[in-house]
Amino acid sequence: MSIDTRSVFKEAAAPRSLGLRRQPIAALGPHDVLVRIHSASICGTDLHIYKWNEWAAHSYRPPLPLGHEFGGTVVGTGAAVTRVHAGDIVSAETHLPCGECRQCRLGRGHTCDNLRLFSRMGLGCFADHTVVPEALLRLVPDGIAVDFATMMEPLGVSVRAVTEVSVTGANVLVVGCGPIGLFAVAAARAYGAGRIMATDLAAYRRALAQRLGADVVADPARQSLGDAMPAQLAREKFDVVIETSGSEQAFQDALAQTRKGGDIVFASLPERSFSIDMARHVILGEITLRGVYGRRLDQTWLQVETLLRTHGPQLAQVMTHRLPLADFDAAFALAASGEAGKVVLQP
Ligand SMILES: [Zn+2]
Ligand SMILES: [Zn+2]
Repeated sequence: MSIDTRSVFKEAAAPRSLGLRRQPIAALGPHDVLVRIHSASICGTDLHIYKWNEWAAHSYRPPLPLGHEFGGTVVGTGAAVTRVHAGDIVSAETHLPCGECRQCRLGRGHTCDNLRLFSRMGLGCFADHTVVPEALLRLVPDGIAVDFATMMEPLGVSVRAVTEVSVTGANVLVVGCGPIGLFAVAAARAYGAGRIMATDLAAYRRALAQRLGADVVADPARQSLGDAMPAQLAREKFDVVIETSGSEQAFQDALAQTRKGGDIVFASLPERSFSIDMARHVILGEITLRGVYGRRLDQTWLQVETLLRTHGPQLAQVMTHRLPLADFDAAFALAASGEAGKVVLQP
């Protein structure tokens, strides 16, 4: 079997520098699965690589194929593949645990000591076809449109963030309305949050957050968080903060508006290390800080499946733009602009 595929590559160690390569897909290894891509969405990680910031320059060496969020159809399987078959609709987890280390044995495969990442395996799904190890594939069950499958991986991060704490009836602040923040707003709403406030610099994203269930939105460039909070919320403060912006300033503002005993969940990487007033907030205020790294394997996938069945069309509003694969340059520029939710490429 030999087919040609087009794939979007990061070509050189410089900002932008994307190209579309046409290359043959060689014979499948025993555990490999050939997937025809239906749609693939641009993630924050892809944008770091596109912009070629310090983190990307430190973590990757071009040329490399881009993309890890996708929905597609199985069209070929290696000799030892047993779990998926031609015609199955699939998405993929992007973290592959070893299954043997102490973290894995504790049921914490997502923080496996030998974790392998999809983005470092030389794969990439901004392509007509890609080859994925069977262990990473997740079957998309009946009742979930193939169109929605590319949301599953990023939605999983938000679902994880929101379900690590109790949002039912809670005052929830979502800091940052990129796709992870937007999904967090929708998930918090679906899981019964009380009042939801969301902040972002981009008007486009604040409006989207309101459509997804935020009661109040604010622009941190115009108003401090405290000033933007309605009177009752200002008295009660936030029970739960979901931080998705990576901004220290935004985090410090949120910390000051979190009630005693509240929870702050980090679903983003801070842009740099910073210090906080431990005595005031963590000891006297008993605020819990916790980070989430990707999804719990596979608990979060099951939660995502359920949420997509019950709230699929609502969540799909986060996918604001669909462009053909050949328009990858425009798609990346759009995703980087703040004038979009999830940007989806379709071969
Ligand atoms: Zn992603
Ligand atoms: Zn492990």
